Amino acid sequence: MRAMLLRERAEVKVEGLPRRYPELPWREDPLEPVDLPAPEPGGGQVLLRVEACGACYTDLDIVEGRVGCKLPLILGHQIVGRVVEAGPGAEGLVGARVGVAWIAWACGTCKFCGRGLENLCERFRATGCDVDGGYAEYAIAYADFVHPLPEGVEAERLAPLLCAGAVGYRALRLADPPDGGRLGLFGFGSSAHIVIQLARALRPSLEVYVFTRSAEHRRLALELGADWAGHPSEDPPAKLDCAIDFTPVGETVARAMELLDRGGRLVINAIRKQTPVVLDYARHMWEEREVRSVANVSREDVRGLIRLAARSPPRISVQRYRLEEANRALRDLKAARVVGSPVIVPT
Ligand SMILES: [Zn+2]
Ligand SMILES: [Zn+2]
Repeated sequence: MRAMLLRERAEVKVEGLPRRYPELPWREDPLEPVDLPAPEPGGGQVLLRVEACGACYTDLDIVEGRVGCKLPLILGHQIVGRVVEAGPGAEGLVGARVGVAWIAWACGTCKFCGRGLENLCERFRATGCDVDGGYAEYAIAYADFVHPLPEGVEAERLAPLLCAGAVGYRALRLADPPDGGRLGLFGFGSSAHIVIQLARALRPSLEVYVFTRSAEHRRLALELGADWAGHPSEDPPAKLDCAIDFTPVGETVARAMELLDRGGRLVINAIRKQTPVVLDYARHMWEEREVRSVANVSREDVRGLIRLAARSPPRISVQRYRLEEANRALRDLKAARVVGSPVIVPT
C-alpha cells in the first residue's frame, strides 16, 4: 500500500516562518512516500480501505516533537474507510463504512475508564500516534473503537467531524454556554468553523464572537453566522460568558480570560501551546473565572457529534490534498493558510 511515513521528527520548513527548533532537521517534506505491505488485522481488529483522512494541527505537533509518539509512524486520526477484512471476533463489520478518531483504544478497567472518562485512560492509545493512522491506503483499527458512518455523504465531508468536530464538540460541552449567553471562539480553523455551527444548532439564542488574526477566517466566520468577528486585539461588543481557545499560542489564554465576564469559563482546545501561558490572578481569574483543557475524545463524544451532524449537518469547507501532498497539508496548517478543514484523499 502507498503511505506517507514519518521516520524522524523534524521542524516543518515554511517560507517566511523563522526556525524554532535548531536541534531538529528543518524539512519541507518530513513525510516520505513509501510502499508497504498492507497490515493484517489481529483479534478484534479490522482493516480499512481509507476513503479520506483529515489532517490536524496535532499532526504538526507530532512531526515537530511537541507530542511524543512511536516512530516510524503513519499519521492521521480522522479516518473514513470501508472495512475490507476483519480479525477473529470482528467479522460482523466487513463491508461497513466506519470512522476512526483519535481514540484508538482505551483499557476499560483503569479508574478513569471506570468513571466514564476513557479519554483520560491511563493506557490510552491514540490513532496516528501510538498506532499507525490514515495517511495511507489502508489502516488497522480496533473494532470496538470504530464509529458507524452514513452512506451517501462524501468521505471528505465526514473526515473533519472525527477530530475537528468531535474534540470541538467536547470543548463546547465543557464550555457549556448558557442560553442567550455569549461564546467567544479564539482561532477559526478546522475545528472552530464546525463548532460555530454546532453551537448555533444546540443553542440558537447564543451570541458568538470570533477572534482571529486572519481576515479570510473572519470573513468565513461571519458567513457561518458569527455575530461579530475581529482581530484578537479588538474588544468585542460585550463580555464573554464562555470561550474556547483553538490557537496554538499561549498569549491567547490571557486575552480570552480578560474578556470573560464574572463566573466565565475558558476551555482550551489545543494539545500543546507553543508559547508560555502567563496569567495574573487578579486580572484574569478573580471573580470565579475558570480555565480548563480538553484532552482527547471519548467514543461518546464522537458518536454524539455524528448524531448531531446527521440532524443538523454543518457546512464544512474542505481543502483537498492527494496522499502524496500530505507534506503540503502540514505546511499549509503551519502557515494558517487552510480555510476550513484539510483532508487527504488517497485515490
Ligand atoms: Zn486532531
Ligand atoms: Zn483505562
